[in-house]
Amino acid sequence: MAAFSATISDSSRFLSSTSLPKRKISASSPRCRSFSLPKPFPLSRLNICSRLERGKSFTICAQASVSDISVEKSMDKVNLPKGDMWAVHKFGGTCVGTSQRIKNVADIIISDDSERKLVVVSAMSKVTDMMYDLINKAQSRDDSYVSSLDAVLEKHNSTALDLLEGDDLASFLSELHHDVSNLKAMLRAIYIAGHVTESFSDFVVGHGELWSAQLLSYVVRKNGLDCKWMDTREVLIVNPTSSNQVDPDFLESERKLEKWFSQNPSKIIIATGFIASTPQNIPTTLKRDGSDFSAAIMGALFRARQVTIWTDVDGVYSADPRKVSEAVILRKLSYQEAWEMSYFGANVLHPRTIIPVMRYDIPIVIRNIFNLSAPGTKICRSASEDVDGQNLDSPVKGFATIDNLALVNVEGTGMAGVPGTASAIFGAVKDVGANVIMISQASSEHSVCFAVPEKEVKAVAEALQSRFRQALDAGRLSQVAVIPNCSILAAVGQKMASTPGVSATLFNALAKANINIRAIAQGCSEYNITVVLKREDCIRALRAVHSRFYLSRTTIAIGIIGPGLIGATLLDQLRDQAAVLKEEFNIDLRVMGITGSRTMLLSEVGIDLSRWRELLKQKGQVADLEKFTQHVHGNHFIPNTALVDCTADSNVASCYHDWLRKGINVITPNKKANSGPLDKYLKLRALQRQSYTHYFYEATVGAGLPIISTLRGLLETGDRILRIEGIFSGTLSYIFNNFTGTRTFSEVVAEAKEAGYTEPDPRDDLSGTDVGRKVIILARESGLKLELSDIPVQTLVPEPLRATESAEDFMKQLPQFDTDMAKERQDAEESGEVLRYVGVVDAINQKGVVELRRYSKSHPFAQLSGSDNIIAFTTTRYKDQPLIVRGPGAGAQVTAGGVFSDILRLASYLGAPS
Ligand code: ADP
Ligand code: ASP
Ligand code: MG
Repeated sequence: MAAFSATISDSSRFLSSTSLPKRKISASSPRCRSFSLPKPFPLSRLNICSRLERGKSFTICAQASVSDISVEKSMDKVNLPKGDMWAVHKFGGTCVGTSQRIKNVADIIISDDSERKLVVVSAMSKVTDMMYDLINKAQSRDDSYVSSLDAVLEKHNSTALDLLEGDDLASFLSELHHDVSNLKAMLRAIYIAGHVTESFSDFVVGHGELWSAQLLSYVVRKNGLDCKWMDTREVLIVNPTSSNQVDPDFLESERKLEKWFSQNPSKIIIATGFIASTPQNIPTTLKRDGSDFSAAIMGALFRARQVTIWTDVDGVYSADPRKVSEAVILRKLSYQEAWEMSYFGANVLHPRTIIPVMRYDIPIVIRNIFNLSAPGTKICRSASEDVDGQNLDSPVKGFATIDNLALVNVEGTGMAGVPGTASAIFGAVKDVGANVIMISQASSEHSVCFAVPEKEVKAVAEALQSRFRQALDAGRLSQVAVIPNCSILAAVGQKMASTPGVSATLFNALAKANINIRAIAQGCSEYNITVVLKREDCIRALRAVHSRFYLSRTTIAIGIIGPGLIGATLLDQLRDQAAVLKEEFNIDLRVMGITGSRTMLLSEVGIDLSRWRELLKQKGQVADLEKFTQHVHGNHFIPNTALVDCTADSNVASCYHDWLRKGINVITPNKKANSGPLDKYLKLRALQRQSYTHYFYEATVGAGLPIISTLRGLLETGDRILRIEGIFSGTLSYIFNNFTGTRTFSEVVAEAKEAGYTEPDPRDDLSGTDVGRKVIILARESGLKLELSDIPVQTLVPEPLRATESAEDFMKQLPQFDTDMAKERQDAEESGEVLRYVGVVDAINQKGVVELRRYSKSHPFAQLSGSDNIIAFTTTRYKDQPLIVRGPGAGAQVTAGGVFSDILRLASYLGAPS
């Protein structure tokens, strides 16, 4: 059989030898390779048979064998240098994707000052896919394989033309054309057969690596460095296993490596990734993405100092960066963690890469060829020490997912306590050659459930049905159920399972994202918790758990309702402060939505606050508060939500209860909720106290002045409020501070209106209802159970003007009433007093009032200027001298500032550093 296959191998050589120039024969030239072609090659169906020259082929084969023997004889003298002097580099497909990139790779090799270097290369990017495509086309008898092969040839041809010249170019192209013409013959055979064997396929697909390694070695040599390229099929010997994997034969590979090295002693070796040979010398591969594995095996054979895997990302991320934009680079991983990550779908590393290097404690470093400044991820034995402040001991390192799985559930009361059931189940699964990815069995032994690749589940289910036919018929087993369309989400971290609370957080994050878990497994290795989910939930689940573990605990998704004067000012303040908060305090505030009454703007990742106005105009959609809430709270990736109500709307205020119940924190300067019906207010506060959801409303009274918080501080520390008295309206403060007798009352009101201190209609201020609301808020906060209607409010709008249509008419008519107000002021003045419009909470008598009062000129209220607010708290502790808070208590900047500090208060309640 061996001779037979050798014949085929040489037959294709014979075919091409007529059309191609003669090539130099070197130790690693294909001419001297003694590979057997994959076994049953359907000779009889090949039209090339008639052209076989058996005798000649045998001669060539015999030559190859002779050279093998002579090498073996001289082998004793060869001493393969091993150890730290070797650095192994592996360059992935994208690293060698273009001629320019191949040059860059050569530069990296040259600049590494290690004494000896072994470089493993993948095929140029996409080439392996193209090669598989050729096979698929040929096997399905699609003629276009011919033009596809031309494309492969052209890709390498043009890359070579870019990189090489003279003899180098000629010899590479001759090699390339030779290979391609062989491939053409083989693909033709596959086309005729309509079938391909695995070993044939492996032989074809491995060519990408043969070409890229040769190209790179020419380029390195062109740079003046001596280097040899290695066809790893001459060195790496692997045994195929039943599970579409191969196991390296280290002893045999080492022997072959010594032999190879004795013929090619070199300090720089450029080796093909991915390909190897079976013990029978048949070309094979390490399976998809196997070049990482090649590099690790080489690292182990040479006992190298380090294996560096160059790719197109900065290292191993905490989750697939294509799926989770927030993923972070992991600076260090243990071998086990890296293995688990790669096994569960992080394709940045082939899962089998770890084992060979682990044996000799060789670290692997994953680096980005496109970003040399990034230090990459180091994979080594102990990952607990700190790298640049990154907490390497954090229990969860990363998350990965595998799609296209199905769950199989074998269930029945007859399984409990029956020895051998599991063995029978998995025996049946093994018989169909399916790969079991995870297993979960409840301790009641009522069911065993496991995940297999979707494409294998039909065969598995049939095998189980037939294996357990009798038990099913007898009712000992109730069913063998298949749940299709599943995915696995794995959380990986060495300390994870031994740290209490981690799985709780994980499951909680999934629950919050409303994701149903179908099965759970946690290996005793404690490196991994695996959950099976519906495939459609998988990315959402991945993001939800990732953000739960990786976003700062104080990342808050914010929805701003009412981008009017206060809301807009708040958004601008957030814009200006966000970076500092994030960098210095680890507080990450993301405005996920802004809604007015007509339009709303939603974002998945956070609105760019430097452009929110234009975005709202350009990308705004029809406002819908329910949809808005759902969006801000429903993204599930950000651990906390806060809705900030900057309206004065009672409809919005009526939603707070529902929001708090849903776990949405509420922050507002809107007075409507706290001054609305008492029963609703009490319910809201009760809910707030029962839950860990927060409701802050500092800016409802005195804008940014610390009034509510001062009051709370007093009450919480056991002080008792006797009386709160204050000037709570900036407008009325301004009016009475300036009504000193030099101008009439109406002139002062007009002046205040002009300066923008009043509402558009000054009656809204003069009526005192706003002050009444503030009084009721403070009264309720102090524990009084009062309704707004319980507070008598003295209005300063003269009775006859209350119904006046417009603000202009009101202002025109107001001077008619100046004399009344002048008289009142005059009376006060005569007794050494001033007029002040105040609100009072009388806690002793459980009352409140809003009215114009007279204060002695020495009273703090008489000393006020501008539009300041002043609030005096008389308490059992502050009895003789009240505690006074004074300062600007109106205006967009200070009000928005008050709301902003509530947001930061929320962040600190959630755990932000102080
Ligand atoms: P190469 O061809 O260099 O071997 P691969 O495509 O095999 O590159 O692997 C790198 C890719 O792996 C990255 O581009 C990235 O998209 C993907 N990937 C998936 N999961 C992760 C992860 N957790 N960390 C980093 N990359 C990941
Ligand atoms: N070229 C092979 C593949 O694409 C091996 C590798 O790149 O790791 O699968
Ligand atoms: Mg790879």
